[in-house]
Parts: sequence; C-alpha cells; structure tokens
Amino acid sequence: MKHKNPWLLSLYVVAALLPFSALGRLRVTTTTTDLAALVETIGGDRVEVFSLSRPLQDAHYLDATPGMVVRIGRSDLFVENGLDLELGWVPEVIRETRNRRVRPGGIGHVDASLGIQAIQVPDRIHRDMGDVHPSGNPHYTLDPVLAQQAARNIADGLIRVDPGHVETYEANLEAFIERSNEVVSSWQARFEPHAGARLVIYHKHFDYMLESLGLVVVDSIEPLPGLAPSPRHVAQLISQHSPDTVRMVIMEPWHDQRVGRQVADGIGVPLLILCPTVGSCEGADNIISLFETNARKILEALESSPRP
Ligand SMILES: [Zn+2]
Repeated sequence: MKHKNPWLLSLYVVAALLPFSALGRLRVTTTTTDLAALVETIGGDRVEVFSLSRPLQDAHYLDATPGMVVRIGRSDLFVENGLDLELGWVPEVIRETRNRRVRPGGIGHVDASLGIQAIQVPDRIHRDMGDVHPSGNPHYTLDPVLAQQAARNIADGLIRVDPGHVETYEANLEAFIERSNEVVSSWQARFEPHAGARLVIYHKHFDYMLESLGLVVVDSIEPLPGLAPSPRHVAQLISQHSPDTVRMVIMEPWHDQRVGRQVADGIGVPLLILCPTVGSCEGADNIISLFETNARKILEALESSPRP
C-alpha cells in the first residue's frame, strides 16, 4: 500500500499505537489470576484485567475456547506465564487470533517468565514421559521475590503499549519490589527455627516459595509433574518416610485429596492443603498476600506438629 500523503501515513502509525479501550484504560488479558494480580499491582487504575483461568483451575490443563480467542483479540496486552505452563492451550489461542499485537514478538505480548532461571529443568528422558514441566518448574509466581522479574516484564509490556504513563508503571514496580522484599525477609526470619524441615509434596507447585523459606522437599506424590501416582509409588512413599524425617505432606486443592490423605496418614504426618493461586483462598488476593497466607499455614503446621 503506497501513501502519497505523509500526514495520512503518520495517522495510520499513531492509530496503530493507540490503546483500544474506549474508556482510556488498557485491556489486559492474562492466563492466570497470579499474573492478573501483578498487572493490577503495576497498572493500577490504568488497566482493566481479565484472567483466562479461574483461581481454582489448574492452568496446566485448560482447553482453548473461542471465548479466549475473542478475549485476546480485543486486548491491548496479553500476559502469559511461560515456561510451558500453558503449553496445552495458549499456542492454539494465539494461532487463532487476528490480533497480531498480542502474538509473541508483538508489542502487546508479554512472556512473564523472561529472565527467570527455572529450577528442576529435566533431561530429554523426562520430556518423553509426558512431564508437564518440560522447561523446568513454571510456578515462580508463588514466590514474591521471583515474581519481581515477572512484574518487570509486565511493566515493560505496559510501557510499550502505553508509553505516556511510564512513570506510573515504574513507580508501582518499585513499590512492589520494595514491599515484597520486606515481606519475604520477615517470613524468612520467622522460619529460621525450622530451617531444613523436610516435606513431601503432591505436585511441584510450591517449590520456589518452600525453598525461599528454607524448607526441603524430599519427595513428591506425582512421580513426575503431571503423572498420576501408581499404588506402588504411594506404597513406596509411605514405606520410605516417617515422622522422624518428614514434617508434613503439602498439596493443591485440585489434586486427589484421598491420595494425599493416604500418604500423610501412612507416614503419620499432617496433610496441608495450600492456596495454589491468587483468589483461591480467602485473603490471598494479591501475590504478597498469597505468599503470606501459605507461609502462615505452613508455620502453624510446623509449630503444632512435634519435631523429630
Ligand atoms: Zn506444575
């Protein structure tokens, strides 16, 4: 397309850069409620945020829907967790949308995991076995210090699509970093008497936050992330652990609690169900309060159960 009039051309360029929202707020779609909370924290009243998954939905296992395609089609910014958390559905949604801005490489696309060093990166053998963490552990938003990098990536995305408010986004990011560092440090100090306490988990969901609290995951009920445990694996867990070596079993509410209960009772330790996402528990309505809610539950369980 040739434009003889340079003013007309610049008008097209400006129109392409303008946010869509008629109310002047940016429309942001995220894959998870954790990311939605981060967008709200950094974007403040500049943004309208919608999460494609609900708080008690396991984002590993959503299905792509036409509604999701419509939603990201209308978005100024699309934020995904990355590290293959949404491997089963986001690529299809991205493929179907006509909104090129929110595709990877577009001005309105944010991979919130950019710059995050994943733990538990498996070898190829695990990939072939259907591991749902093929790029390492994707659940970094449970730890508010790691979530700072996601917040940085989100701020960069907001600044790209709304450069006029760069100071607002930078100030909100700085405040989040300061607050989250303070909160995590204070909880780490409270966990000092329990440093090295050993735990069994169901899925590798809370590992980043457990590590930052000085706790040690010694085994998981899923033999690999996403693989249901066999009766043999459950029996092995029960025979290999005891209250002398393990303090509790931790799990998410969306996995089979009968299996969690069987393992905890078999070992003879408490079963603790934590909040896996923002909005999944009362009071856990942002990244910091999600961390605090989970930390409080673990601390109470450690203080109320006998030490080996
Ligand atoms: Zn996972």
